[in-house]
Amino acid sequence: MRDSTIREAAAADGGPVRADAGLPRAVDPQTRAGGEAEPASVRLRLAKQAEAAEPIGETSSTEELIAWSLERFRDATMVMTTSFGMEGCALIDMVARRGRPLTVVYLDTMFFFRETYELRDEMARRYPHLRFENRGTSLTPDEQERQFGPQLWKTNPTLCCRIRKVDPMVAALRGVDVWMTGLMRSQSATRANISTIDWDWKYQLIKFNPLAFWTRERVWEYVRENRVPYNKLHEQGYPTVGCTHCTQPVEGVKLGEYTRAGRWTDFEKTECGLHGGAGI
Ligand code: SF4
Repeated sequence: MRDSTIREAAAADGGPVRADAGLPRAVDPQTRAGGEAEPASVRLRLAKQAEAAEPIGETSSTEELIAWSLERFRDATMVMTTSFGMEGCALIDMVARRGRPLTVVYLDTMFFFRETYELRDEMARRYPHLRFENRGTSLTPDEQERQFGPQLWKTNPTLCCRIRKVDPMVAALRGVDVWMTGLMRSQSATRANISTIDWDWKYQLIKFNPLAFWTRERVWEYVRENRVPYNKLHEQGYPTVGCTHCTQPVEGVKLGEYTRAGRWTDFEKTECGLHGGAGI
């Protein structure tokens, strides 16, 4: 079945719009986040698709997964998103090597570090066949302050993230069939159960995480070996880089170590809420 027709066919089932035709055998439909019931006809179709094996699965290499996705979803709308973290830069490099054009979406929160803007420009120069597209909010920091008061990231960081990240991401992914990310299971407990490919109930699309089984150490090795540009703040003790207001360096952390420490240090919050499909 062509991907462009998957949504229509699934909608005809009367259930949530799905696009399971691309799922490899290793994916267990029972592990869907949110616990929504699946219509019987969709389950039947899944079973039939499981019989017609895709050439990839959870044990496939990242190169195989990426090559497969670019071919398998050739007629679908696929985008990669990135916040220009080390994982995202490595993944951009891996995809770029296949030579296919792809849109890379990022959300400029208007609170990026100078180093992040410099990295974005460097990546765009280095990979001219990829289209880097800013889908961040148009609400300026001044307007946000007028509407919600000063320093919303301190008074209500969840709302601030919703305005500057989550809502823009919802808009950016509208009409997208396949969403490629650099998420890894090793990044945090909340990401520990992600699959390489899954259905995202929050955004109603296929979510593709070809680095799911990687570690930061492996990413760092890839970045060094392939001279992939990365955020210079990583060398200054920032394991991850988000907004200036909510990102701190972490003492003693090495370039090959990943930790969410350093983000929203005055709050229990560890995620911005973008990746809601599996509770992350
Ligand atoms: S990370 Fe901080 S500044 Fe950025 S959107 Fe979230 S709360 Fe706002």
